[in-house]
Amino acid sequence: SAPITVGELAEKLNRNASEIIKLLFMMGTMVTINSVLDDETVELICMEWNVECHKEIIIDESDFEEQINNEEEDEANLVERPPVVTIMGHVDHGKTTLLDTIRKTHVTEGEFGGITQHIGAYQVGVNGKKVTFLDTPGHEAFTAMRARGAQVTDIVIIVVAADDGVMPQTKEAVDHAKAAGVPVIVAVNKIDKPGANRDRVVSEMSELGLMPEEWGGDTIYVDVSAKFGDGVPDLLETILIVAEVENFRANPNKMATGTVIEAKLDKGRGPVTTLLVQNGTLHTGDALVVGTVFGRVRKMTDDRGRELKEALPSMPVEIIGLNDVPVAGDIFKAFDSEKKARNIAEERLNKKIAQERSSSSAMSLDDLARQI
Ligand code: GDP
Ligand code: MG
Repeated sequence: SAPITVGELAEKLNRNASEIIKLLFMMGTMVTINSVLDDETVELICMEWNVECHKEIIIDESDFEEQINNEEEDEANLVERPPVVTIMGHVDHGKTTLLDTIRKTHVTEGEFGGITQHIGAYQVGVNGKKVTFLDTPGHEAFTAMRARGAQVTDIVIIVVAADDGVMPQTKEAVDHAKAAGVPVIVAVNKIDKPGANRDRVVSEMSELGLMPEEWGGDTIYVDVSAKFGDGVPDLLETILIVAEVENFRANPNKMATGTVIEAKLDKGRGPVTTLLVQNGTLHTGDALVVGTVFGRVRKMTDDRGRELKEALPSMPVEIIGLNDVPVAGDIFKAFDSEKKARNIAEERLNKKIAQERSSSSAMSLDDLARQI
């Protein structure tokens, strides 16, 4: 990308140049308003302020259209990546059963003694391609992630039990998918049940704006029995078709970025974190920053407990090596220098502490005022 000066970046980000100068000073670099910044530093600054740091920020407006059409120079670096799918729907309509059936039928037994661990996401093979499923349905997790600015899902599958029809959480799911602007596939579930009425589901979902192709819409409906497996292969093929149309791509030849899916503290291993790599490639040994947490990827395993040296875009991995438990939904970024990662995390932590201190002292003054 074109070189950019401190002054120019400040303008693009709607900030004062002195803020950038101060930020970089805190990180140990002295610059002036006319200093030219390299890509990594620009990214660092954007990350620090939690602003999208895609190239559009640092290139000319005239390049926008080119970028939307993926015609910029990076085109050659973009390769197909697996779609990331979330299953949503009303309670008891079969989300967990569907996730389990997909996992069981598409993970080759014996690959790792048939063991699959639950790390919050998993990947399956379908006709030689891969599909990533987020294993934490729950609308709350989805909403929390979106509230944090994380966009992890490419495709939403809304499960509707054919013997029950559209219910309040079905509507919520439709709203979530619409807000996220991602394509929806409707899985009409429990089609094996005597009381199943798929036409009712189609008409109720159409009222919510999800018209099937035969009615002039573009929503795909697939009849399934999550319990017995009928229609599940069709559903998986449909995901691949949608993915092909949407053309999900990423550049595997850069440092990784992505989102925290789950994190917990393990007595023996310390903080254990599931990351979804969304762009770039994550390697063991890479330094990481997530919020105010930092560290190095000491060990990385996939959803079947196999140790990995690297993780490509759309891959969920479990890692150890962070200094604390990060927040699910937070964005992570890999760096080649642990020192840099530590500096960013510590600077963020200092800022957070300062903010908390000033808000708590404001509070106590209020309390004081009340007591008087
Ligand atoms: P969730 O709350 O959406 O995760 O729903 P579950 O997957 O826990 O399913 C709720 C109940 O419906 C369970 O008793 C499942 O066995 C049952 N169930 C799920 N899918 C099917 C299906 O396709 N056919 C039948 N007959 N029962 C199903
Ligand atoms: Mg469930």
